[in-house]
Amino acid sequence: MSQTKIIDGKAVSAQIKQQVAVQVSALNEKGIQSCLAVILVGDDPASRVYVNNKKKACEVCGIRSLEYTLSAQTTQDELLALIAKLNQDPDVNGILVQLPLPRHISEDAVISAIDPAKDVDAFHPINVGKIMQGTCTLLPCTPAGIMELIASTEIPVAGKDCVVIGRSNIVGKPMAMLLLHKNGTVTICHSKTKDLKQKCKAADILVAAVGIPKFVTADMVKEGAVVIDVGINRLEDGSLCGDVDFDGVAPIAGAITPVPGGVGPMTIAMLMQNTLTATKDQNKVS
Ligand code: NAD
Repeated sequence: MSQTKIIDGKAVSAQIKQQVAVQVSALNEKGIQSCLAVILVGDDPASRVYVNNKKKACEVCGIRSLEYTLSAQTTQDELLALIAKLNQDPDVNGILVQLPLPRHISEDAVISAIDPAKDVDAFHPINVGKIMQGTCTLLPCTPAGIMELIASTEIPVAGKDCVVIGRSNIVGKPMAMLLLHKNGTVTICHSKTKDLKQKCKAADILVAAVGIPKFVTADMVKEGAVVIDVGINRLEDGSLCGDVDFDGVAPIAGAITPVPGGVGPMTIAMLMQNTLTATKDQNKVS
């Protein structure tokens, strides 16, 4: 049995936020204040928690945060008008619209309305295209955070067989691109994939972004593989659970992320990193 390393997402995210804070403070000395605007539409409790966590992370990093809380009845035009105003505001470097939005508002229309230079979620079609090319300075937060976690294991991605389960625009697809850019050989699996177990078992690096509790079981994992669990599933008893059966898989994996405390904290750390990058890019400083 290999010696399993538990990848500590809290520690890696704290380090990244610390590095961001140092650079934000250096910008302050040049008279530049980094600022993130977060827009929340409606009163979804989970979204409220995410927005509060983003505000707290901004405080830790010295990033100014502006919060716009709009009622669930806000029209699409009203939301687009606010985004247009923030796009024009030179003091705002990053704009994040918390998803999901109420059904009467088109998420695609809203994402496309954000200035790509201020699109700190990296969801705008222009940024998605640049991510394909490997030329985007703003990286999708969850996949970028996962790349940091893999880097923390000091296991190189180059030449490895990487399997990503899930093909969402937010996680699966950009994850595959970032692994490819690091010279991994990437297979994307999804709900219609045949022989999923065999494909997963061949992976040196396995990323699970399925949204099904304990979907990845020990018989799907290669001895010594790096296993990254993106899933955040709420069980009936209120506890959180990932997409990987941690207790079964941990003894086989070479390295594995826990849930909570693995990928989750990285997403916000990378949002801070993107806000810093956007601020630097807009002010043409390195
Ligand atoms: P999604 O629902 O958009 O996508 C799920 C994917 O899983 C789909 O592409 C689908 O094809 C695939 N899938 C479903 N059933 C399958 C099966 N039986 N076999 C193989 N593939 C199957 O989900 P998402 O937005 O990518 O999120 C996935 C999980 O990650 C969720 O639990 C979500 O809460 C979590 N998540 C976590 C973070 C974080 O910061 N940690 C960020 C985003 C999402």
